[in-house]
Amino acid sequence: MRSSKTKPYITEDERAWIEIDLKNLKHNVKTLRNAMPSNCELMAVVKAEAYGHGMYQIAAYMNQIGVKTFAVATIDEGIQLRHYDILGEILILGHTSPARAMELHKYELTQTLIDYDYARLLNKQNYNIKTHIKVDTGMHRLGFDKADTEKITRVFKMKHIEICGIYTHLCVSDSLEEEDIRFTNMQINGFYELLEKLKEKHIELPKTHIQSSYGLLNYPELKCDYVRAGVLLYGVLSSPNDKTKLHLDLRPVLSLKSRVVLLRVIHKGESVGYGRAFIAHRDSLIAIFPIGYADGFPRNLSCQKSYVLINGHHAPVVGKICMDQLAVDVTNIPDITIGTAATLIGKDENAEITAPVVADNSESITNELLCRLGRRVKIITTDLDGVY
Ligand SMILES: *Cc1c(COP(=O)(O)O)cnc(C)c1O
Repeated sequence: MRSSKTKPYITEDERAWIEIDLKNLKHNVKTLRNAMPSNCELMAVVKAEAYGHGMYQIAAYMNQIGVKTFAVATIDEGIQLRHYDILGEILILGHTSPARAMELHKYELTQTLIDYDYARLLNKQNYNIKTHIKVDTGMHRLGFDKADTEKITRVFKMKHIEICGIYTHLCVSDSLEEEDIRFTNMQINGFYELLEKLKEKHIELPKTHIQSSYGLLNYPELKCDYVRAGVLLYGVLSSPNDKTKLHLDLRPVLSLKSRVVLLRVIHKGESVGYGRAFIAHRDSLIAIFPIGYADGFPRNLSCQKSYVLINGHHAPVVGKICMDQLAVDVTNIPDITIGTAATLIGKDENAEITAPVVADNSESITNELLCRLGRRVKIITTDLDGVY
């Protein structure tokens, strides 16, 4: 087999493509597991097409290397995983209509109980359902109020509700500001106080979990049964300059590439693209790439707000990014021809443009950038042995 670092041969006809490096994914799984307490299990968050990496490729590979617990946002994502023959626990983090209780049961999905009324409705459907109780400790999104020990206790007695877990979600665990640390500790303590009260009521505690990616990085001392890891699995931080307590050697899993379909000379004073937003201040060589905001490359990276890498060199995006195409100034780039590949996210020879940097340039976070990539872009997986 042939190795595929920068120019995989099977993509010669592709407009734009995503390369998924499974050996980096494997490395990240191992690194995260090593950073977690010994009895704690990795819950791999693969919602939103595994943050744009392709839910099938990512979940199937992780299942193969021994990951047994997954989290998704919706029931349809959960059912999709079962259609992909994914084994193990699949926790739905969001709301599912109680009218779909039969499917929750049939596909052995684990549903989050988002509050008491929801739990009652789900119980009434007469299907035995595995669940985790979500507790609101300050995020104020989904969950039972942490003070509502009574109602939470009652849920443990519901006939069709099997409680396999109880969890909370932190809302400022990515920050090491003093006040944010205080808030997070308040959340964590509130969760543990609730667990103590449940124990006093002789409730046998199910599995517990608190941390997502930044929860692990900044509160690694917590001893829970799961860490719900999303963005870190994919080897990236949400923002490029985040300060964290733990520094893990994680490696980006995704690269985004495209290739030149047209080269044209633009004379000094001529414009390129919509709104004539780019006017050449010199005679310029412009490369057109067939990738645009419909592929998830953000439009607000237009007009020199970002660059792509070509043969290891930086080349600025000029003019407005279109739905399906963008223009790059390649006047100073040597050896460029039709078909030359560019890296929009990833490594290119000795240069690298990371997803957090691209996200930051577009005034967003890595999570949003990645999960919006790719509806039209083919995903190619590579590992140590090559492309498949
Ligand atoms: C998406 C999500 C996660 C994963 O978050 P990351 O920051 O990507 O690790 C964890 N928990 C919940 C409840 C989520 O919605």
